Amino acid sequence: MSTRLSRRHLLHSGLVAAVTLAAAPAAAAPETRRLRFLHTHTGESLAVAYFQAGSYDAAGLEQVAHLLRDHRSGDVHPIDPALLDLLHELQALTGRDDAFQVISGYRSPQTNRMLNARSSGVATRSLHMDGKAIDVRMAGVPTKKLHELAMSLKRGGVGYYAASDFVHVDTGRVRYW
Ligand SMILES: [Zn+2]
Repeated sequence: MSTRLSRRHLLHSGLVAAVTLAAAPAAAAPETRRLRFLHTHTGESLAVAYFQAGSYDAAGLEQVAHLLRDHRSGDVHPIDPALLDLLHELQALTGRDDAFQVISGYRSPQTNRMLNARSSGVATRSLHMDGKAIDVRMAGVPTKKLHELAMSLKRGGVGYYAASDFVHVDTGRVRYW
């Protein structure tokens, strides 16, 4: 009698352990990464879940690429998901859920040439041309503060453009200006 009880007890404990093990991965809710954008030139806005259930969401990335298209030429180019993750982390650091106001996302070679001819602040071979850079500000966060937070991520290039009131972030090598 006592042997059977203890065996039952052991069996029961084993089952509980097995159930606990099986439940452990499911207990951590699948991460969803969201971003909100407001494009200052087109007036378009987007709230998107670009990462869902453990992977980047193709439809979400397409929506992002469309919003961040070259607004001068209409050209659409894929946006580096790592750039979105960088923005996602930057958003978390701000402690706010305001949209990123976009000044410039993707730039076609023609647009970049035109801007480069106009301004010394535009590189000849800009990462904007690879969908790996974005110029942003955020309502409610001083742009200087946004610049500091972006630098603290140590995730790529970060530039501060005081006169135009925006921060450039990219997924190139870590460098600040
Ligand atoms: Zn830029």
